[in-house]
Amino acid sequence: MANNANMQPIFILQEGTQRSQGKSAQKTNIAAAKAVAEAVRTTLGPKGMDKMLVDTLGDITITNDGVTILNEMSIDHPSAKMIVEVAKTQESEVGDGTTTAVILAGELLANAEKLLDSNIHPTVIARGYRMAAEKSMVILKNISEDISQKDTELLKKIAITAMTGKGAESAKDHLAAIAIKAVKRVIEKDKDSIYYNKDDIKIEKKVGGSIEESQLIEGIAIDKERVHSGMPRVVRNAKVAVIDSSIEVKGPETDAKIQITSPDQLESFVMQEEKMIKEMVERIAASGATVVICQKGIDEIAQHFFAKRGIFAVRRVKRSDISAIAKATGAKVITSLKELNKEDLGNAGLVEQVRFGEDDMIFIKECKNPQAVTIIIKGATNHVVDEIKRAMEDAIGDTAAALVDGKVVAGAGSPEMEIARNLRKFAEGLSGREQLAVLAFADAMEVIPKTLAENAGLDPIDIITELKAAHDKGMKWGGVDVSTGKINDAWKKGVVEPMRVKKQAISSASEVAEMILRIDDVIAAAGGASEDIRRPPAGGMGADMPF
Ligand code: ADP
Ligand code: MG
Repeated sequence: MANNANMQPIFILQEGTQRSQGKSAQKTNIAAAKAVAEAVRTTLGPKGMDKMLVDTLGDITITNDGVTILNEMSIDHPSAKMIVEVAKTQESEVGDGTTTAVILAGELLANAEKLLDSNIHPTVIARGYRMAAEKSMVILKNISEDISQKDTELLKKIAITAMTGKGAESAKDHLAAIAIKAVKRVIEKDKDSIYYNKDDIKIEKKVGGSIEESQLIEGIAIDKERVHSGMPRVVRNAKVAVIDSSIEVKGPETDAKIQITSPDQLESFVMQEEKMIKEMVERIAASGATVVICQKGIDEIAQHFFAKRGIFAVRRVKRSDISAIAKATGAKVITSLKELNKEDLGNAGLVEQVRFGEDDMIFIKECKNPQAVTIIIKGATNHVVDEIKRAMEDAIGDTAAALVDGKVVAGAGSPEMEIARNLRKFAEGLSGREQLAVLAFADAMEVIPKTLAENAGLDPIDIITELKAAHDKGMKWGGVDVSTGKINDAWKKGVVEPMRVKKQAISSASEVAEMILRIDDVIAAAGGASEDIRRPPAGGMGADMPF
């Protein structure tokens, strides 16, 4: 009698826990990653298509931007989410290159799958990928070109390349000029290093008018009007008080009950209230403030008193604007009026309310910190300004990354081809299995020119063959000419990108691929994963997506 037959199965996991192990776990994870890459594939490059995303409230987003698409898709599968993280990292590190990073990650895993099928151990593949990724960084650096602030034409090419395919085509020169001017304005130089803080450039959207009317304001622009028409429209040498409490007696938060039994009582109550508000205004005026920027409400009586004193006041200013104004003017954000002192005020040479298109905006210029700038994006509809804003963010991110690192490469698939070629040479010196992994990595690089060609309606196999031949002949920047369907010199064509876009995309794509490859057991607590972890997302993407 075999003992085993009587043995009770042992449950070590809670009831309802989902578990997937070994090959099956790897397969599903890879399938999920590929599905995410597939979802953004058609948007890559100048001929990439857009996607229309409809959220649960019916709001529509039309975009070509990888990270925006993935954010809106509300992806649920755990390893698919890891790929989305790659796009988010790319977005925060550079801004541009999100689609590239995701497509690369998908292809690295797709190629790893083939190696897994021929029984190569995942850790060997992961190790090979690590070696290839490190080598790619060296290759990138070797092939990159130098750039400095003086290279005006080159900077323009970078900004324009960043915006291609994003609905900014019609006004690309104008928008590129704005992006470059803004970046040059805010970067800080210290000896040989250049620093850039993206919070220094504020982007404000304004629906109405044309994209051509978009402009750069040297200072902070806020989409607000002063609270009372009796206030001055223009204040010179402004002393700015930035306040994040309300200038009211009873904020909407308080819920006190007062019993009034006679008309006298009511009158004295009203008078008392008025007195308190007047005191608040007086306290602010006594500090010497001539401009009041308030994050919360300003009572009507206070508005009146401010106007009488010639103080320019704005209420309900967004929190992000409050910090931008405080930073630009050097003001301290005041939480309690009692604390307000002369030293807390900020300075601005000019604060004015100006007519901007259909309505008014407030400009705070000639600030103490001249590094603060605002770009106002104009366009006919909400969808247009949203997409132009995203294009502008990429143009700014790319220009800044190029200047900070001082290194650029051509695009159109040329650096990926060059990396693939050099990796294959590198692989020759390696032994068996690792060599296969490095070669798989090299092949994966080619997915970028391949996808650019596909999206332009070209034959990817022909293009890759021609590109390989061109690069073998020493045409370092040989890339896909999406308009003629031929091979061209992408550098001469003016398709230029910061090296950092490629560096970041390759390193984060390979990191996530390695991480996913090392997983051979997925254990999901009951209710933890709302989607079945044993299945990749349906239909290649969120099943309820409108595309
Ligand atoms: P990402 O989110 O990765 O930035 P994009 O849709 O912006 O995706 O596409 C970027 C790719 O398009 C890069 O490989 C870039 O070199 C390429 N590209 C941009 N402009 C051109 C062009 N004029 N011709 C060919 N390729 C281009
Ligand atoms: Mg891009």
